[in-house]
Amino acid sequence: MEDLDEPRCNRAAGHAILASLARFGLVPDEPVIWQSERTQFYRAALDRLIADGRAYPCACTRSQLAVAPCPCRHLNPQPHAWRFRSPDAVDDAILLRADGYFAYQLAVVVDDHLQNITHVVRGDDLLDATPGQIALQQALGYATPVYHHIPVVRDANGDKLSKQTRAAAIDEMPTELALAHAFFHLGLPPLEITPRWPAWAVPAWSSRRI
Ligand SMILES: [Zn+2]
Repeated sequence: MEDLDEPRCNRAAGHAILASLARFGLVPDEPVIWQSERTQFYRAALDRLIADGRAYPCACTRSQLAVAPCPCRHLNPQPHAWRFRSPDAVDDAILLRADGYFAYQLAVVVDDHLQNITHVVRGDDLLDATPGQIALQQALGYATPVYHHIPVVRDANGDKLSKQTRAAAIDEMPTELALAHAFFHLGLPPLEITPRWPAWAVPAWSSRRI
């Protein structure tokens, strides 16, 4: 559960997401882990990158970064936030934010490694983040999973359906209707929806149908 951004996320919101998934028959096969409880792992990874010279302090404010790229790679300012010293100097992602929260980019790489994730299937909205994650894995000596990105659902303006674009909550639609829409989007055959639907949907799924 990606709940690192604590001012915006909270435990109740996470449980509401899990309850929604369960209503659609999607239940985890291992206990859910919460990123907000794992900062010691992210701290250890960051400390290793700092010790190896693969992270550098950044003192830029958000408004400075809005008008110019971060110059801190060459300045060595007082620590404020920490950035990854990427091999190409292009993907110098923030690792620890100035407000003290670890960044998604570091947390997801550490979590995938500690959970022995071998295959990642996710939305194409994260495609741009993937090269930076692979560079971080290499800097930390982690194996790189196989990545596969599929198109996310977008509205008529091309924006990803999300709270920010005022998309209706999925809970507002009857479960079977919502699943029927999802199956159509994924190119799955319109089979009868029973609580056992994942048993037929998993073997029927193919990225070529999308
Ligand atoms: Zn900077």
